[in-house]
Amino acid sequence: MIFDILTIFPAMFSSPLEESIVGKARERGLIRVRVHNIRDWATDKHQMTDDRPFGGGEGMVMKPEPIVAALRALKDDGPPAKVILLSPQGRLFNQQIARDLSLLPRIALVCGRYEGVDERVAEHFTDDQISIGDYILTGGEIAAMVILDSVTRLLPGVLGNADSASAESFSEPVLEYPQYTRPQDFEGWSVPEILLSGNHDRIRRWRRAQALLRTSVRRPDLFSRLELSAEDLALLEAAGEEFGGGQSGREPDRES
Ligand code: SAM
Repeated sequence: MIFDILTIFPAMFSSPLEESIVGKARERGLIRVRVHNIRDWATDKHQMTDDRPFGGGEGMVMKPEPIVAALRALKDDGPPAKVILLSPQGRLFNQQIARDLSLLPRIALVCGRYEGVDERVAEHFTDDQISIGDYILTGGEIAAMVILDSVTRLLPGVLGNADSASAESFSEPVLEYPQYTRPQDFEGWSVPEILLSGNHDRIRRWRRAQALLRTSVRRPDLFSRLELSAEDLALLEAAGEEFGGGQSGREPDRES
């Protein structure tokens, strides 16, 4: 998959692109990330990429010409790209959107700055607008990294263990169960006994119950969308008795 990133701060991407899963995916040729400096397409002598807003007001607005020139120049440099503008006014990013994007051969991520980009870019030269949350970032670069990271880890062959993406929170609208590793006892807090039992079916059911309880407490919005199976309902009912009193009841202050 090819990611084209259009930004006026290309250096922001150097380290995130080199490290960890994204770095390895690039090394292994599973993704190609091309970071383009929008300024390279600014034609005036100061290579301006922004200007004052028509109608007055605070701040600067990103000019349409350099962004559109960049998009046109890159258009045929690979398979057809879905052009996405990062914007706090876009649709809210989530795992389903990440999954949909991971099926595409190429996406182009346009990073705004200042007061945003000229509306005509959004209207006529992009296919989608995505927000990563209801807050305002200084620029679209961090939002582009969020999309790049979450999409990359869904691509075939990127994660070592093929199962680890599908078991994670949001593969279905449920948060993941709590995870523990060594030491078994850490400063007086011990790992739930059931995880040491070796009884895989009990562990599976405990994890499922924990995931459901955790989702209901922390994310009632997700929980209300869950389609609970008969086993889920039984687990929830039994949770208080079978697992109750132990770790399952300790929601959620210790970790946060
Ligand atoms: N004045 C704009 C508004 O109120 O909608 C906000 C501009 S913001 C300071 C500058 C740029 O950061 C935006 O053009 C966008 O590319 C990016 N950005 C800010 N918040 C974002 C978010 N929540 N999701 C995605 N991109 C965001």
